[in-house]
Order: sequence, then C-alpha cells, then structure tokens
Amino acid sequence: MVTLPPELERWLALSWDAVVVHFHEIALKGGNRRPFTRALQFNLQRVLAPLSAGVQDCFDRLLVVPVSGAPTTAWLKETLSAAAQVFGVAYAAPVRILPRDMDALIAAAVETYRTVADAGATFAVQVRRVDKNFPLTSQQVERIIGEHIVAATRAPVDLKAPAVALRFRIYTDCAYLVGPKVPGVGGLPVGVTGRVLTLLSGGIDSAVAAWLIMRRGCVTDFLHFHAFPSADEVRTSKIVALVERLVKPQGVRARLLLVPYHAFQVALLMAKVPAALELVLFRRFMVKVACRIAQTRWYHALVTGDNLGQVASQTLENLRALDDAASVPVFRPLLTYDKAEIIALAQRIGTYDLSLLPYKDCCSLIARHPETRPKLDAVRGAEARLPVDALVERTLSELVVWQIG
Ligand code: ATP
Ligand code: MG
Repeated sequence: MVTLPPELERWLALSWDAVVVHFHEIALKGGNRRPFTRALQFNLQRVLAPLSAGVQDCFDRLLVVPVSGAPTTAWLKETLSAAAQVFGVAYAAPVRILPRDMDALIAAAVETYRTVADAGATFAVQVRRVDKNFPLTSQQVERIIGEHIVAATRAPVDLKAPAVALRFRIYTDCAYLVGPKVPGVGGLPVGVTGRVLTLLSGGIDSAVAAWLIMRRGCVTDFLHFHAFPSADEVRTSKIVALVERLVKPQGVRARLLLVPYHAFQVALLMAKVPAALELVLFRRFMVKVACRIAQTRWYHALVTGDNLGQVASQTLENLRALDDAASVPVFRPLLTYDKAEIIALAQRIGTYDLSLLPYKDCCSLIARHPETRPKLDAVRGAEARLPVDALVERTLSELVVWQIG
C-alpha cells in the first residue's frame, strides 16, 4: 500500500539511528494533545512489535528505534512502510542523531551529499531550529553548512528546487539529519474519537467505509449477518480476513459480531409482504438489531457502506426508511463517493481482492427488484405484519462474538 520514495534506496546506503514519526492534525489539538500522542504511540508500538522496534515519545515527535543493535536497511524500509499506514501519521523518515555541534552537522552533510547526489547535482540545506536557544539562527546554520559542502564538492546551490535537500532539525539535546520523508496516511489515531459498530457485508463498500471512519480516530467493531446454519462457517471466510486487513495495520483489535439472518428470512416468507419491500424491511431489521447491540455494548453510532444512488435500494427514500428504524446515528462515509473512487480506495487499502471473493451473501437471497421510492407508511405497515421485536430477540440470542487481531 505504501510506495517508498524512489530516492530512498540511495539514502539508505548511509547509516541511520532511528525512524522519526511526525503527527498529523494532532499538533493542532492543543490541550487534547497527550491522549492523541499516547494513542498513536500505543498503536505504532503494536504495529511495529514484530519488527522488534521500540517507540519513544519525544513530545513533538515519536522516535522508533530497534530494540537492539543499529537499524538495517530492511528494518528501515519495513518500519517506514508500516508507520506510514498508521492513522495519525503525517510522515515518517529515517534520521541520524547527531551532537549539537557544527562540525558534526557539516561532516554529516558532506557525507550525505557525496553518497546520494549525482555528479554536479544541485543541493540546499534546510534547517529547523526547534530549540530557539541554539546560538546560531537557522539561516546561519544553513549558510555555514552550505559553504562547507560547496568547498568540499563544488556542488551548485539551488534553494528553490534542489536535487538533494539536506534537512536538519536542532533540538535541545541533539540534532537530526532527516532522510527522505515517506508521507503518512493522515487522519487521527484509532481510539481517540469514539466507538462505532460497522455493518460489514463482505462487499467492497462497507470495508472501505470502516477504513474511513477508523481514519477519523474511531474504534470500530464489526457486525455481520450471515446466511449459514452456524457462525462457525464464517471462520474461514473473507469476513474474518477483511476485518484483519482493516485492523492489523492500525495496531488495534476488533470484535466481529455474527448474527444469523435465517429467522428473519423465514418470517418474511410466512408474512407475504410485498416483494419490492423485502429488501428495505431486511435492512431495517439489520438496523434494529445493530441499534440494540449499540445500546447494550456502548457504541456511539452505526457505520454502513451505503452510497447515494449506487443501487436501487440506495435512494434517499430508502435511506430515510432505514434511519426511521434507527435509535443511534447511522454514519455513511461513502454516501457521496463515485464507485470508481471507492474501488481505487479499496485497492489502496488492500481490501478489494478480498471483497471480490465469492461468498454466500444474505442480500442476494432477497427479491431483486426493490422499490426505489417506498412510502414510509407503506414500509411501516408491511413491517407491522412481522413479529419484529421477537425476531430481534431471537437473532440477538444467537449472537456470537469473536476477537480479531
Ligand atoms: P457493500 O459493498 O458494503 O456490500 P453494497 O453497495 O453492496 O455495499 P448493499 O448490499 O445494499 O450495498 O448494502 C448496503 C450496506 O448494508 C452495506 O454497505 C453494509 O454496511 C450493510 N450490509 C449489507 N449486507 C450486510 C450483511 N450481511 N451484514 C452486515 N451488514 C450488511
Ligand atoms: Mg453488498
């Protein structure tokens, strides 16, 4: 999912001490900053544990270091790729930790230019003084280092569009030489904004919807209605694989809640409701079951992969009929997306291929031609012919919960 910058390969020929991770949006959060950095540190720590990495909180940044020894090229690449996928990360970059000493900065700059630059390549030195008490200004440091590079290599300076940017940051206790930045996925770390329950179908859309709501910092669990005689048959299906694909890169776990669809299906056959309303009634039933779970298990909202106008059941009238059955907010992160955008996102996050795997989907058991503009009264009237409350209870009594990740 993460493409590392092409110039990174050359830079990794140098020796590095750590990977620095800068936050996204978090810095803007003022007083809320600590919970945000703590969540990001925790999530990163879990993601990077298989790489034997420790994550240190350095107030305005996180520093990832190998538990023992110096970083290898393979460790740096894997750490950069994994860190860039974690929500809340603005960018990750390899760093060399130097003393706050001009000779050390100059030596590192000259060595770096010689290693990474083509003959005659332009360069610029970019210095950020995080410690404003450092005796030289950023511009003075840039000029002094720049002059030494020119003297040592005769390289031309280009401040606007250098082929090689030599970046330094000066802190109170050390300075960093910062390598190429790997852009992060952005958003907020999972865990900082609340708990939601995603209705996961196994199709393309709901997995992408879950990813988007997690990127806004929500912890999500997943509710799936299955069409099997027993939940065990879901164990080896794409549903479990999808949940893993969504939560593992964020360093979090999730519950997968499974309920059968058969009680409702049988009731639908007996009640003889208009075939064109079957789908909206089933979707209302899903919402009702999900809302009951939300109330007893403390979810703030439901999340679905609904989109406006993508299929016949996704008209405003149908969506309104769903919200009419809900007692907690229903969020639809994909409402305004084009299908092509959703597919591109699914491919980027690695759920697309899983979503295409064949599966016994409950919605496919229901009438193919749903009413596109159902009247709310007609929907409620048809629903009244079903023992909905008893069906909700019966379905909830068969709830199975698995921990994933
Ligand atoms: P998806 O690709 O997510 O299946 P879709 O475009 O196929 O979406 P529908 O099949 O109408 O649309 O489903 C709309 C939404 O209803 C889904 O995105 C999902 O949130 C929810 N949903 C559908 N089927 C199920 C199911 N079996 N279990 C849980 N949620 C479901
Ligand atoms: Mg579907």
